Amino acid sequence: PARGDVVLEARGLTRRFGGLVANDGVSLAVRAGEVLALIGPNGAGKSTLFNLLSGVDDPSSGRVVFRGRDMTGRPSRESAALGLGRTFQHVRLLPQMNVLDNIAIGAHLRGRPGLLAGLCGAALRLDRAAERRLLAEAARQARRVGLGDDLHAPAGALPLGRQRMLEIARALCADPCLLLLDEPAAGLRHLEKRALAQVLAGLRDEGMAILLVEHDMDFVMGLADRVVVLEFGRKIAEGPPERVQNDPRVLEAYLGG
Ligand code: ADP
Ligand code: MG
Repeated sequence: PARGDVVLEARGLTRRFGGLVANDGVSLAVRAGEVLALIGPNGAGKSTLFNLLSGVDDPSSGRVVFRGRDMTGRPSRESAALGLGRTFQHVRLLPQMNVLDNIAIGAHLRGRPGLLAGLCGAALRLDRAAERRLLAEAARQARRVGLGDDLHAPAGALPLGRQRMLEIARALCADPCLLLLDEPAAGLRHLEKRALAQVLAGLRDEGMAILLVEHDMDFVMGLADRVVVLEFGRKIAEGPPERVQNDPRVLEAYLGG
């Protein structure tokens, strides 16, 4: 997609869990070359929306359109194959295994994150040439996120900030045009957040579409081009960070919640 093209659209997404409406008619669009931040109090429906957008979960009503294709109800591997990369709220890696193998294995299993946990130590059953290509690509993506000096370190020994970078590198191996990141800065130290913001801004400037959930307002305000605010499953505000930050409804949602 060219810079400015709409890559991903939510059209009136609603998700009910029994009587609870976790997403209530949410619409938004993410464009190539922008960072869109999704914010809102705990329980607002942010992770639910991510699951709908990535095909991990299906909406009760509404549509998900990715790169012009209606992906509603399609399995997540189909979106992944079309260029949707994601990371999860909690880091998913094999702590004993080194950085390079963690990136490579994740890339090999892309769109099937459930398999990752069950795979500890198992061979990938690739031929030598395929394995070499995969490892070369993993190394390239590791360098892109600043992990070039950590390729052979056990992933579990890295500080959290670098583990998050590892997960981004893993997503990048699939050559995505859209990244969905669920709370990428959570638990990071100040300098780690700065490094993460720099990597994400670099990807954005290369034309990547990035949608992220984030609680850290300073992080969001410094990085996001636009912000969407959810409260009780509904979109209550949308716009540039400075405007959203001073929106009376948003202030009330945060102070009142
Ligand atoms: P956020 O990520 O913004 O904190 P979530 O999307 O995780 O919020 O949750 C939104 C609401 O939906 C919460 O009230 C949560 O308890 C509920 N919820 C999320 N997933 C499920 C589920 N699988 N079953 C029942 N309720 C759920
Ligand atoms: Mg969440």
